[in-house]
Amino acid sequence: MNTYARHEHHDFLNAAQQALADPPLQEALVRLTSTLMAGNRRGYAALADSDALRSHAKRIKEHTLAHLDRYLEQLEAAVQKNGGHVHWASNAEEARQIVLDIARKTNTRRIVKSKSMTSEEIHLNPALEAAGIEVTETDFGEFIIQLAGERPSHLVAPAVHHTRESIARILSKYSGETLPDEAPALAKAGRRLLREKFRQADMGISGVNFAVAETGTIVLISNEGNIRMTTTCPRIHVALMGIEKVLPRWIDLPVFLKLLARAATGQALSVYTTLLTGPRRPGETDGPEEFHLVLLDNGRSRVLATPFRESLQCIRCGACLNACPVYRRIGGHAYGGVYSGPIGSILTPLYDSVADHPHLPHASSLCGACQAACPVKINIPHMLIGLRELQTHEKSKGRWEKWAYHLSAAVLRRPWLYRLALRCARLVLRPLAHEGWLRRLPGPGAAWTTVRDFPAPASRAFREQWRQLR
Ligand code: SF4
Repeated sequence: MNTYARHEHHDFLNAAQQALADPPLQEALVRLTSTLMAGNRRGYAALADSDALRSHAKRIKEHTLAHLDRYLEQLEAAVQKNGGHVHWASNAEEARQIVLDIARKTNTRRIVKSKSMTSEEIHLNPALEAAGIEVTETDFGEFIIQLAGERPSHLVAPAVHHTRESIARILSKYSGETLPDEAPALAKAGRRLLREKFRQADMGISGVNFAVAETGTIVLISNEGNIRMTTTCPRIHVALMGIEKVLPRWIDLPVFLKLLARAATGQALSVYTTLLTGPRRPGETDGPEEFHLVLLDNGRSRVLATPFRESLQCIRCGACLNACPVYRRIGGHAYGGVYSGPIGSILTPLYDSVADHPHLPHASSLCGACQAACPVKINIPHMLIGLRELQTHEKSKGRWEKWAYHLSAAVLRRPWLYRLALRCARLVLRPLAHEGWLRRLPGPGAAWTTVRDFPAPASRAFREQWRQLR
């Protein structure tokens, strides 16, 4: 079942055009991505040797993925030893059913949730709401987009596409008050509205940033403190975790804690790092009565056996989004899937279908900025090229495309014909150029010149200049 992409056959080109024609969105994207990218560079620069630390993190991830079965079983045993319950979900439907069953058995009517891309991935909220359960997102950005009926548009800043004014409008409508469009007043209103939800909730649902196999500890990171409330106030805590989030040892954790916040925002450490090892124990005053860990596969073990395995090293920091010249212009919604940006352009086709997302592997200039920003140095450009290669094998080409390939093969195989073609192009195109650029190309070339100019052919080919130089 298609679980990654929200809309089948999402029209990426159309959505990208709409985003480009939206000035407030453009402004918000430039502001956010520039701030976070500057933070990313500052964060790495503050480390003694960020390059070595990132390589070390990558090696830990490579090792973990090579022995994933072993570490997951170790994690399961440790969580059970700590008094928690572990559930295995092979796909989104199973994961939803597991959460619904826990809710039914525990007589849950109200749920508070912290931000979790995994829950977005399995489309959990609609399933819970359909079962008559009230669900409230408690990350402020997620709360806003839940009220607006939207999807997150950034991994760490889900409501980036909203302004202070639109947030004031949404919160005012929900609360029935007239709230000013001032950040402190809006934050105060959000806190007041959410406090009540925490107090009433039967169950808290969270994601998992990391899980330590050795100790059965899950690690959650936030800047708002809502995760602590979500995981400790309600009597039941359910944590949803993609199976790739496991780390073998306790000693591996600081490596990722040092990198995640720096890569995402430039902070030395996020404001709250929550480490949870099982439910409340006898004599303890805080914490849930029951703790459930749901381990989600949903295509991950399939990807593990492909050349795209490296994508499972992702720690969802969002740095590649901020670095990407395409994401910076079109934002997250244009990608059509749960995950956006360069890593989303890999994950959505891989987990959903390469054929249904023909444009995503091409939504990149392959400049390498994503890999340079990535805390685990994931070679995103290489995988995007791999997906393009898959497309050329899978796609049945149209008559014109076949003809174009035959023609270019014929020209490239014959140097004399290549030289002749260059000369003809020069003769035809140079008179149409203005100051070295062509403003409009005919036929399929028009797609290029609607958004940028095309360089006119040089007056003399490189070979001619080379001959003369020698
Ligand atoms: S691919 Fe790298 S940079 Fe992008 S979200 Fe994942 S870890 Fe962060």
